[in-house]
Amino acid sequence: MNSVVVGGTSFLPPMMSVSDVVKVYGLQARAQLSQNFIFDMNVSEKIIRCIPDIEGATVIEVGPGPGSLTRSLLNSTAERVIVVEKDPRFLPALKNLADASRGKLHIIHGDILDANRLILPRLLDHFNPSKVRLVGNLPFNISTPLLLNWLRMQSYGANIFRPGRDVRMTLMFQKEVADRLVSDINRRTRTRLSFLAQHLCKVTMPYVLPPEVFVPAPKVSAAVVNLEPRHNPEVVDFDLLESLLNTVYNQRRKAIRNTVKILAEDPLPFLEENHIHPMMRPEHIPTANMCGLVNSLAQAGLLSPRPRSSSRLYLADGFDQNGLPLVMVRPPSPS
Ligand code: SAM
Repeated sequence: MNSVVVGGTSFLPPMMSVSDVVKVYGLQARAQLSQNFIFDMNVSEKIIRCIPDIEGATVIEVGPGPGSLTRSLLNSTAERVIVVEKDPRFLPALKNLADASRGKLHIIHGDILDANRLILPRLLDHFNPSKVRLVGNLPFNISTPLLLNWLRMQSYGANIFRPGRDVRMTLMFQKEVADRLVSDINRRTRTRLSFLAQHLCKVTMPYVLPPEVFVPAPKVSAAVVNLEPRHNPEVVDFDLLESLLNTVYNQRRKAIRNTVKILAEDPLPFLEENHIHPMMRPEHIPTANMCGLVNSLAQAGLLSPRPRSSSRLYLADGFDQNGLPLVMVRPPSPS
């Protein structure tokens, strides 16, 4: 077994390599949790270098797994790293990293979709960082719902995205999803997700990774996407924008006048008011005009958000003397 020091100027004591951690703890990748690991520390260092202005930031990493990105984060100039991992098999290896990190690493055991709502906002209120970076080689099966969850929070200035806090995202997606996130107007790749991300954020793709860098290798490439909040996003209600996009993208090959007709008996005045040609398809419409259309339809009482199923919430086992949630939080047992 090799012992390695991670990075040239490591803050961590010598540790097992990540591939040895996986062997020693018998951590077979689980497909249902979208587990594709990165063992090459050069790759994880390169991903971490994509994070803008990391110095002094609190980084939240989703799905640390055996901890390659986590090690690079611990060796970075971030002030603290909070990881959220659902699979309990990784906890002993992460605990070793936490012990070596001199208080820099905090572990939450749970589902990120739940932790987002309760534990993470509490932790951030406690630490009160001015800079937060959301990072992860995301489990592909939840990457889109998770991003939508964060974009909605950003739009409403809620939870992690409290107003005044500088929150940016550096996330790994399947390349196909990354292409949609950065897609220009008039491209087939311009989807619902492009509008929802781009009306709030400047979206860039700094790094594309071939399947071979992952273990096991997935069928498709992946890409790192940076989402940085725009200073003057269009004024539009996120849920209403999502609702209109669902309607028009359900039949994306139809002209906009036909899909908006589902909502308004006479769609033409609404389209004219927002300088949208009735024969356009959704991918041809600039983001600002689509947002204008949402506002016009909403003012006329013709658009309302789809009812949302409430997501599971669970409480921490307790709070310590500082009001900080106890770090090991069990996911709810199935009822
Ligand atoms: N960061 C590691 C790496 O790059 O090698 C592992 C990345 S792997 C693609 C995704 C990780 O997310 C796995 O560790 C998996 O257990 C975890 N995961 C899956 N679903 C999760 C969820 N809902 N909440 C938190 N972690 C989750």
